[in-house]
Amino acid sequence: MLLEATNVSKAFGDFLAVAGADLNVEDGEIVGLIGPNGAGKSTFFNCLAGETTPTGGRIVFADQDLTRAPPEAHARAGIGRTYQVPTTFEDMSVLDNVMVGAFLRHPHLEDARDHARRIVDMTGLRADQRARSLGTPGRKRLEIARALATEPRLMLLDESLAGLTPTELHEAIALVRRIHEMGTTIVIVEHIMEVIMTLTKRVLVFNQGHVIASGPPEAVVKDEAVIEAYLGRRHRRQDGNG
Ligand code: ADP
Ligand code: MG
Repeated sequence: MLLEATNVSKAFGDFLAVAGADLNVEDGEIVGLIGPNGAGKSTFFNCLAGETTPTGGRIVFADQDLTRAPPEAHARAGIGRTYQVPTTFEDMSVLDNVMVGAFLRHPHLEDARDHARRIVDMTGLRADQRARSLGTPGRKRLEIARALATEPRLMLLDESLAGLTPTELHEAIALVRRIHEMGTTIVIVEHIMEVIMTLTKRVLVFNQGHVIASGPPEAVVKDEAVIEAYLGRRHRRQDGNG
């Protein structure tokens, strides 16, 4: 098992954003994470990447207990992540943004630049372009490139394929597949069911901080609790019960 996240919780005051979630990921898997807005998916990723310390539970990655470790330790252990809201350095070039990730394992400038250049080529970006002049698809790609430059064993993709046109979406799916074929294990948060159906064999469904269902995507979308979590309000309205 590459990742064992057990009974992970994160409280903000009295509010439990993540409420005892379990996620085990085997080396080489692509696992989907779905659930309505506010379900706790990004907060769970923040716990896995060390950006926030869980208030309960345990996170073991490649036999290392990272539960209370800082984000640098998670990155060094091999957990890379993208952000739902891209966090690019606006005044820097694409290449320089990717070098920020590359420095993790290539402390020498020339090595970092060479490594970053390979990643930029692979992700189909233009090295000399300013980050601020990128559109949504470019920004999403740059997020992926910067995470990839840290040479993660596990990539956490947080809605990295949102806001793309159908053509861009298919290119992005192909990129995720390439990253997987390079030997990277992936956990992907995504609302677009086509992405989940195409890329994953196993999904977990989050609702109100809990994992309410898991299994093959085809089965999970038919699960009563999942339908209720996504459509409950609308169903009730149609029933005339508010
Ligand atoms: P998702 O990614 O599934 O849409 P999030 O993890 O972003 O959900 O948010 C889960 C819940 O936790 C939301 O209700 C959100 O408002 C709350 N939340 C997230 N971060 C914080 C924070 N730093 N302080 C307080 N509440 C937060
Ligand atoms: Mg989110």
